[in-house]
Amino acid sequence: MAIQWFPGHMAKARRQVTEKIKLIDVVIELVDARVPQSSRNPIVDEITAGKPRLIVLNKADMADPAVTDAWLKAFKRDDVEVVAVDSKHSKGLKQLMTGAEKLMKDKHDRMREKGRNPGPIRALIIGIPNVGKSTLINRLAGRNIAITGDRPGVTKRQQWIKMKGGEMELLDTPGILWPKFEDQLVGYRLAATGAIKDEILNLDDIALYTARELRTRYPEQLKDRFKLEELPEDAVELLELIGKKRGLISGGYVDFEKASELLLNELRHEKIGRISLETPADHELA
Ligand code: GDP
Repeated sequence: MAIQWFPGHMAKARRQVTEKIKLIDVVIELVDARVPQSSRNPIVDEITAGKPRLIVLNKADMADPAVTDAWLKAFKRDDVEVVAVDSKHSKGLKQLMTGAEKLMKDKHDRMREKGRNPGPIRALIIGIPNVGKSTLINRLAGRNIAITGDRPGVTKRQQWIKMKGGEMELLDTPGILWPKFEDQLVGYRLAATGAIKDEILNLDDIALYTARELRTRYPEQLKDRFKLEELPEDAVELLELIGKKRGLISGGYVDFEKASELLLNELRHEKIGRISLETPADHELA
């Protein structure tokens, strides 16, 4: 597949995250609840090694609740601390705090036994672009904070942001990870949910992948949304039918580009309902 990030870019991102990790107690790894595995980056295991980590399935409001439950179970079975959150509407933030406290409990208990005050938990939020890092920081802080990414050549003092209750402090610049396109499916899943720009992959291909997935995973929601009685087997025919239903005809033919844009827009704006494009079973984790 023709997706490549500059190796220099990746090395820089890795260095910046590694530097930050030294300063903190807990890593909060944000992933997209609709594609929890594809929105992770495998280097996270290496760069966070040794630090307690909480996985946050963000945008849970957009994901299929049954699939999110399956993911929570799959992670927990591997002894991974995990919570599902909807940062946009501040849902699940208490569980997030509890999860972080749980990870620090033993260490904090030992400190208290020695008569030391553990102080607030220092945490860093990391994740790929667009996964909701800034939104979560703002919600946890209870106010809007200007969050700037790391800019080349700009060295900025790290600031600690106090959380509402004071039990946690967050580093103000989240750690940005690059998505890793291990295989074509990862790229399509990230593109379909809008995590990566459409220009990176061919729009028609993303739309055909999406039509195929929705047909398999959510046939009833697809029928309802586009008022279809039957769903053609073939993804091209399905997309054509959707275009026809919405009157996207040009010169007597369905305008494929418009039909592709329409399907992806409707998916990304939850018009087709709560959709997950990846389950633990897809990874044989069930
Ligand atoms: P960042 O690049 O990781 O900092 O991502 P942002 O915080 O800028 O979020 C990207 C987009 O996702 C924004 O449009 C947010 O409003 C939206 N968003 C973030 N978290 C959630 C969530 O939990 N639910 C929903 N529905 N949208 C979210």
